[in-house]
Amino acid sequence: MEKKIVITIDGWSSCGKSTLAKQLSQKLGYLYVDSGAMYRAITLYFLRNNIDWADKKEVKNALKSISLEFVFNPKSNNSEMHLNGENVEYLIRDLVVAEKVSDVAAIKEVREFAVAQQQKMGEKKGIVMDGRDIGTVVFPKAELKIFMTADNAVRVQRRFKELYEKNPNVGIDEVKNNLEMRDYIDSHRAVSPLQKAADALVLDNTELTEDQQFKKVMEWIKKLF
Ligand code: C5P
Repeated sequence: MEKKIVITIDGWSSCGKSTLAKQLSQKLGYLYVDSGAMYRAITLYFLRNNIDWADKKEVKNALKSISLEFVFNPKSNNSEMHLNGENVEYLIRDLVVAEKVSDVAAIKEVREFAVAQQQKMGEKKGIVMDGRDIGTVVFPKAELKIFMTADNAVRVQRRFKELYEKNPNVGIDEVKNNLEMRDYIDSHRAVSPLQKAADALVLDNTELTEDQQFKKVMEWIKKLF
């Protein structure tokens, strides 16, 4: 396919956005960007450096010391998040970060910092980006916007399985509470709340396998060419 487009994937936590985004980027030879990883890395930096994020001045100063970069790791076949040169891909998936990330991501200055970088990455198109505000704020003119959703219980099970494999001490209630809390904060914040773009296509994958979901979206894409 010669023409390159921008594909945005937004939706609730643990809907499988990144799984779909990775499949699409591989099939199309596009860049994949996990925008959530950027908010997670900023949160990790704030936690490590005891940044009081209620203080705007402190936030602005801290952001000046943060450099974010996605580095492809051939071993994991994944683009991994580097914070000031350190690979933090594993650390940012921890519940300690997940518990605070929605508070940090609600801060206007933090969003401006991340969104500017995200828009730059999409300048040449040929990109799949997933997050919460990608179709509404980051790339409002994207050619294909997908809004993903799935039943709560299914999402909790999926995220629990993922976290349990890394840490068998994690409890299902902890995971459920974290998902509910993040979805609530993400969809109720004043700046760029999670919402479906008017022109986004809804993908409910409660009853779909990864393969079925991928085929369905590829059909949507074919119609654009
Ligand atoms: O996608 P992921 O679950 O890793 O995102 C972590 C958190 O980052 C979300 O719960 C949300 O608070 C924030 N986020 C955001 N905007 C994005 C992507 C993520 O606010 N575009």
